[in-house]
Amino acid sequence: MSSLLSDANQRLEKALRYVTIDEDVATRLHYPKASLMVSIPVRMDNGSLRVFQGYRVRYDDSRGPTKGGVRFHPSVSMDEVQSLAFWMTFKCAVLNLPFGGAKGGITLNPKELSKFELERLTRGYVDAIADFIGPDIDIPAPDVYTNQMVMGWMMDQYSIIQRKITPAVVTGKPISMGGSLGRETATAMGAFFVMQRALPQLGQSPQDTTVAVQGFGNAGAIIAELLYHAGYKVVAVSDSKGGIYAPQGLDIPSVRHIKEANRQLKAVYCAASVCNDVEHDVITNEQLLELDVDVLVPAALENQITAENADRIKAKYIFEVANGPITSSADTMLEERGIEVFPDILVNAGGVTVSYFEWVQNRSGFYWPLEEVNNRLEKSMTVETENIWAIARDLKVSLRTAAYVHALNRLDAAIKAKGTRDYYMN
Ligand code: NAD
Repeated sequence: MSSLLSDANQRLEKALRYVTIDEDVATRLHYPKASLMVSIPVRMDNGSLRVFQGYRVRYDDSRGPTKGGVRFHPSVSMDEVQSLAFWMTFKCAVLNLPFGGAKGGITLNPKELSKFELERLTRGYVDAIADFIGPDIDIPAPDVYTNQMVMGWMMDQYSIIQRKITPAVVTGKPISMGGSLGRETATAMGAFFVMQRALPQLGQSPQDTTVAVQGFGNAGAIIAELLYHAGYKVVAVSDSKGGIYAPQGLDIPSVRHIKEANRQLKAVYCAASVCNDVEHDVITNEQLLELDVDVLVPAALENQITAENADRIKAKYIFEVANGPITSSADTMLEERGIEVFPDILVNAGGVTVSYFEWVQNRSGFYWPLEEVNNRLEKSMTVETENIWAIARDLKVSLRTAAYVHALNRLDAAIKAKGTRDYYMN
């Protein structure tokens, strides 16, 4: 088995020690159900032809059609997409959504393409995977370097192929094309609800809690701002080019404003207002991870905390907004050092939860106000945080193992309902 997926599977192996589920179920969950690799030829603006590699994986659909984001990034590979689809399977089960797990992606550096090229590539990707997706089969959504506009192109292209408007094929769409209010902020909002539930119980009041956020994109910038407005001291943030650190706390709305205007945090280092208002140091991403803070929020990519740097992490609590930012070997090291990790399959599940709300709204044709979206999200995130906490306490296991146990019990019920060895042979 390939590296990322086998690392992901180690979490499953660990959780399997604490549940009594059917052996058939465990066997099934070790393998992705279907993996598609496609080549997408794109006419570039200069007239040349480039062929891009794209992927879509449906990991398990026992609980419903599969659901998962589409990533545009140079490191996208079949291994990465399968691992992300694996996590989506467990995430949907943790939140009790009627979905299985999927993921997709294209290997490219989106910053090198023009907007025209990006649109042609996205539409070409949908042409290539159209038979593999659908509102009752598999529903893509945004992920790293894909956004509302990309989802709108995907929905439009799929509708052209099907010769009918099919909004429920993709979530995270622009509101004007059937998107849900609150979807853009949902991942960060969901993480915020988990933190609001957990941190006071751990004796951390906002004004006495320092936070570092790695990754200042859709998820990271919004969680940083939500925490800032709730009174937490967000002392460091970073993007792919590096980070900024101010022990007295950063003015996050200004940092966001400058980043949005200049498209990179680097612009914040220089003459703009944040520099004048708040003293700060320029730090690397490695330094950000190792800061002496109460809370660390990795919100960029996977494999950021590994066996190599785990013993230098000083945060007391880690909330995984990114998918898979901690490797399984680093997990063990952090656990031994008493650092509590709130796992990705709970913390960042707000995105898929509101994607589910969007799918429901598309299928019913009735659209909800923002307040309803956020109230339902808060309820789901709070209930499942409490459920996982209770399992962790009962079984004396980490929150990650507890989350897998919780998901496994739900997956077990769905897979068993169709009959297992136990049923047929007894
Ligand atoms: P995004 O593309 O909006 O932002 C990614 C950010 O990470 C950018 O600021 C980028 O500069 C930064 N980054 C990239 N490489 C980095 C590095 N080596 N060090 C530090 N920063 C780096 O993506 P996003 O949607 O915010 O997703 C971020 C993470 O959250 C991913 O792991 C994604 O799978 C996860 N996630 C996102 C959603 C969602 O709805 N957007 C839902 C669930 C999980």
